[in-house]
Amino acid sequence: MSITITTEGKEFRDKILSTPGAERIMNCYQCGTCTSDCPVAKRVEEFRPRKLARLVMYGQEERLMEGDLLYLCAGCYTCYEHCPQEVHVSEIVSALRKYSLNNGHLLPTFKALMNGMAEMGYIYEIDEFENEMREDDDLPSAPVPDTEGVEAIMRSTGFLDKVEASKR
Ligand code: SF4
Ligand code: SF4
Repeated sequence: MSITITTEGKEFRDKILSTPGAERIMNCYQCGTCTSDCPVAKRVEEFRPRKLARLVMYGQEERLMEGDLLYLCAGCYTCYEHCPQEVHVSEIVSALRKYSLNNGHLLPTFKALMNGMAEMGYIYEIDEFENEMREDDDLPSAPVPDTEGVEAIMRSTGFLDKVEASKR
């Protein structure tokens, strides 16, 4: 069975390929090493780094953008370290997430985390309980963040505006 790639599919693929870190995707020869070593793929049957690479190669934007699979990648870089072709699947996933956000989409959980970062300087609230647990582990209290500074950086890059405007 032959697979044809549409003009829109090529445009989508080229955008992902032009993202720093994602350039080598066309070197993927589908050996599956990334999938067999990926800690997330070991637990989630639908999450297949090899398949993600293949879908990008064939410009399958809709299939990549639907669902939550992109957000399961833990960014551990195991796939990159083990890939014989030096394809950086984790950076490809980052490029896909960026593309998704630039098109107005963000998983609600991530939206809440990013809003938390802008408000508190951390993705979740650090309270007395957290610091007591740190003390039990001989760790110093978590530093008090410069929340205004964090929000200013997130705003100045345009990232926070995109997060706030995003829908699932
Ligand atoms: S390990 Fe590399 S070459 Fe093999 S399927 Fe994964 S990305 Fe492609
Ligand atoms: S970076 Fe993501 S895709 Fe790669 S091995 Fe880790 S969890 Fe899997």
